[in-house]
Amino acid sequence: MADSYDVIVIGAGPGGYVAAIRAAQLGKKTAVVERDKTGGRCLNYACIPAKTVLRTAEIFHQAQEGAELGVVAKDVSLDWEALGKRRASVSESLSSGVEMLFKKNKIALIEGDGSLTAEGDVKVDEEVYGAGTVVLATGSVARPIPGVEFGDRVLDTWGAWSLPAQPRKIAVAGAGASGCEIASAYGRFGTEVILIEMLDQILPAEDKDMARVVERAFKKQNIAISTGTPVENVEVGGDSVKLTYGGESAEVEYLCIAGGRGPDVEGLGLDQAGVKLAENGKIEVDEFCRTSNQKVYAIGDLVNAKALAHKASEEGVVAVEHAAGERTHPVDQNLVAGATFCHPQVASVGLTEAAAKEAGHEVKVGKQKLGGVGGATVYDDKDGLVKLVVDAKYGEVLGAHVVGNRACDMIAELVATMALEGGYQELARVVHPHPTISEAVLDAARAVDGWAIHA
Ligand SMILES: Cc1cc2nc3c(=O)[nH]c(=O)nc-3n(C[C@H](O)[C@H](O)[C@H](O)COP(=O)(O)OP(=O)(O)OC[C@H]3O[C@@H](n4cnc5c(N)ncnc54)[C@H](O)[C@@H]3O)c2cc1C
Repeated sequence: MADSYDVIVIGAGPGGYVAAIRAAQLGKKTAVVERDKTGGRCLNYACIPAKTVLRTAEIFHQAQEGAELGVVAKDVSLDWEALGKRRASVSESLSSGVEMLFKKNKIALIEGDGSLTAEGDVKVDEEVYGAGTVVLATGSVARPIPGVEFGDRVLDTWGAWSLPAQPRKIAVAGAGASGCEIASAYGRFGTEVILIEMLDQILPAEDKDMARVVERAFKKQNIAISTGTPVENVEVGGDSVKLTYGGESAEVEYLCIAGGRGPDVEGLGLDQAGVKLAENGKIEVDEFCRTSNQKVYAIGDLVNAKALAHKASEEGVVAVEHAAGERTHPVDQNLVAGATFCHPQVASVGLTEAAAKEAGHEVKVGKQKLGGVGGATVYDDKDGLVKLVVDAKYGEVLGAHVVGNRACDMIAELVATMALEGGYQELARVVHPHPTISEAVLDAARAVDGWAIHA
C-alpha cells in the first residue's frame, strides 16, 4: 500500500476541494484525487466559464444600449478570440487558486482516476492509498435526450460555452437554469436563438410569476420561446441540424441540449465497497452525507436533488465535520437557493406559491415590482419582481423569489431570514439602504399586509 490518509476526497470540484480544506483545518491528514483539473467542472467547464461569457454579454448589451444613459459607443463589436481567452484565463486563475489553497493547507493532490476498493480504501491507477474516511465528490455528466448523441453539431452546455465562433442561429433544448443562461448570452450577442422547453413554462422549477417576467425580457433578446414542446426528429447534417418542436420545424447551426445531468459514478467501484444508489440514481446518503458504507461519504451532484456548487461545498463541510466527530448540522436542502444568471437574473429559495399550496399551507403573498423603488430607475433595472410566499397564520417565510439584474446577490438576505426563522413581519421592519434594489424586498414584505409604500 502507498501512503495512508485520514481523509481522501475523490474529485476536486467545489464539493471536493472545500471538503478537503475543512478536513485539513480539523487537523486531518488529507489527500484529493483528481483526474482532470482542480476546481472541477464548476470552475473549468460549467459555472465559471458560463458566468464569464455572460459578463461579456452584459457589457456588450450595455454598450449597445448606452446612448440613453449618455454613453455613445460607436461600432460596438465582439472579439470572439478575446472572449475565449478571458474565459480560459478566469478558469485557470481560479483553478490555480485552489491548488495554492491545497499547498497552504498541506493537502496532497494525487493525479489520476480514483475508485474504491472492497475495503473502502482508494485505488488510483495501480496504487492503493489507505483511508480513514473517503469523500466521493465526482460530480455529474451531461446526458443527451433519447435518440440523440452529442457530437460536432449537437452540443452539451460546455460545447455551447466554448464555441470557436459566434453562431448565427442555435436551438437550445431545455429551459432550466443552464438553457436560459445560454439563450440569454447568445441572444444578447445577436445570435438568433430558439429556446425549447418540454414543460409548460421556461425555468420550470421557478414560480410561474417569475418565469413570466423572464419570458417577457427574453423576447427582447432575439430569443423565440416554445414551451410544452419536446424536441423531436433531430437530423444532424455536416453544417446544420434540423429538428421539429410542437408544430414547428427549424434548421440551426447547433442544437444545444441543456437538459439532464446524471451522477458520475462510473468506475468508482461502488458495488464492491457496498455503496448503494438511491431510487433517483444518485448515491444514497443520510443527512450528514454518509453512504451505506460507514467509512464513505458522498456529496455534491452525486447526492440529493439539487445540483448546485454552493450545495456541494456545504455538504463537503458537513461530511468531513461529521466524520471527524465534530458538532455539525445537516444542510437544509430547502434553504439551498437557486441562482440563474440570465438577463434578468432569477433567484429563489424555498417553496413556490403553487408548491406551498400543494403542501397544504394556507399562504399569503407579497409582491413588489422592482420598477417601484427608486434604485431600479437609477440603475436601469426596472423589469424585475420580488415575491414572498408566507404562512398565513404565523408569517413564516416559506419561499422567496427575485427577478432582477442583481437577483442572485439579493437572495442571500432572504436565505438568512428563512434560516434564522424570521417572518415577513420582521423583514417588513428591517431598514434597507437607499437607493438600492433591495428596498423592493422591504416593500414585498409590507405588501403581504397591503402596505407597500412604492406599489
Ligand atoms: C453549464 C453549467 C452552469 C452551471 N452554473 C452554476 C452556477 O452558476 N451556480 C451553481 O451553483 N451551480 C452551477 N452549475 C452546477 C455546478 O456546476 C455543479 O453543481 C457543481 O459543479 C457540482 O460540484 P461537485 O464538486 O459535485 O462536482 P464537479 O464540479 O463536477 O467536480 C467533480 C470533479 O471530480 C473529478 N472526477 C470525476 N470522477 C473522478 C474519478 N474517478 N477520479 C478522480 N477524479 C474524478 C472530475 O474530473 C471533476 O473535476 C452549473 C452546471 C452547468 C453544467
